[in-house]
Amino acid sequence: MADMKQLARLIKELEDQLVVCMRCGMCQAVCPLYAETGREADVARGKLALLEGLVQEMFKDPKGVNERLMRCLLCGSCSANCPSGVKVLDIFIRARAILTGYMGLHPLKKAVFRGMLARPQFFDRLMEWASRLQGIFVKPVDDLLGASCGRLLTPLGERHIKALAAPPFHMRVKPGSTSPRAAGLRVAFFVGCLIDKVFPNVGEAVMRTMEHHGVGVFLPEDFACCGIPALSSGDAAAFDKLVHYNLQRFAAEPFDFLITACATCTSTIKKLWPLMAWKLSLEAQEQVSAIAAKTMDVSQFLVDKVGVRQADTKSGDQKVLLTYHDPCHLKKSLGVASQPRTLLQANSRYRFKEMIEADWCCGMGGSFNLQHYGISASIGKRKRDNIVQSECETVATSCPACMLQMTDMLSQAGDRVQVKHAIEIYAESLP
Ligand code: SF4
Ligand code: SF4
Repeated sequence: MADMKQLARLIKELEDQLVVCMRCGMCQAVCPLYAETGREADVARGKLALLEGLVQEMFKDPKGVNERLMRCLLCGSCSANCPSGVKVLDIFIRARAILTGYMGLHPLKKAVFRGMLARPQFFDRLMEWASRLQGIFVKPVDDLLGASCGRLLTPLGERHIKALAAPPFHMRVKPGSTSPRAAGLRVAFFVGCLIDKVFPNVGEAVMRTMEHHGVGVFLPEDFACCGIPALSSGDAAAFDKLVHYNLQRFAAEPFDFLITACATCTSTIKKLWPLMAWKLSLEAQEQVSAIAAKTMDVSQFLVDKVGVRQADTKSGDQKVLLTYHDPCHLKKSLGVASQPRTLLQANSRYRFKEMIEADWCCGMGGSFNLQHYGISASIGKRKRDNIVQSECETVATSCPACMLQMTDMLSQAGDRVQVKHAIEIYAESLP
């Protein structure tokens, strides 16, 4: 059970924000969940109405309220299109923390978030062992997309997944700090779990790009998760522990910007670390504000701070048709959409083509995909159809979670389309 004072404060903040919603229903048109289910309870307006009586409902039917609240991708499409500026994601995150504080955390989630994720070195060792043993449970199924599917008796269902990388990024690249050269800037690199354990090639592309541009890089030892899996399940305690851990790691060296190649990590550090920082010491709150202000997506850093520009190409030079999917956490949460496109067009080997609905959610939604795979896959299929309709051979994005979802959808459909990160495409163009 959470501290009652903390719960009361969260409820007060929640109520202050809830009154801003004028029930116009404009969030219906942009909610990917509502587009699939047509249920008012699934759209932001329906959930906000439910939360208005949260304190009463919490005592009557906490499980029911929690289940309805967890049916959300946290994509932020509603917030980004709300004429009243309702901070829907802040409200949902606070409400989940309130409910979990009141009901307690499910034992399985407790084991995962507090027993594993919030103990980064142990989590790393565990994942290293899992990568050695995964062949018992999964088998390769798609060479082009590098996807695997479950063998008999695995809980993966029909999913096509990316296997754990061996070795992970933290065993490929030495931690430490390099000095700024031509660019006169030093960045701290926040790697994130998925890039470390599933897409180390994306992390390597970041390192190669920084080296090419003469940007100094600080890579701390034993880096950890940004905390979003725990917080989106309402586990504020594990989230706080991870924020503390990261603050200590990134306080070790000075840097100009903190970069990530994961849209979800970027928006968590910039938006959710400050949102939940009120329980921390004043010193820690100041650290959180400072680090949030310096945090940016790697494409934003390269375009806005280093000056990367589109390649000057004659038509006909470019051979591979390429499109881009906007991760919700980058475009809708942070307003970053032009920079990744500039980065992609800096590689003259590719010809860029917009797909329709490039910023429609891919349906991943982190734990939403685990709990509601059927709906997640239906939303993902719409994304897959748009990619295929673009006739592109490669789809790029800026979030490893979106890469997982698009790989799953394209691989299951047997499509011959590669999924890459924008920084990989850019790094391919470097000498
Ligand atoms: S959340 Fe915004 S868009 Fe949705 S009903 Fe409320 S005011 Fe309208
Ligand atoms: S965050 Fe996304 S899925 Fe959740 S209510 Fe808003 S638009 Fe719908």
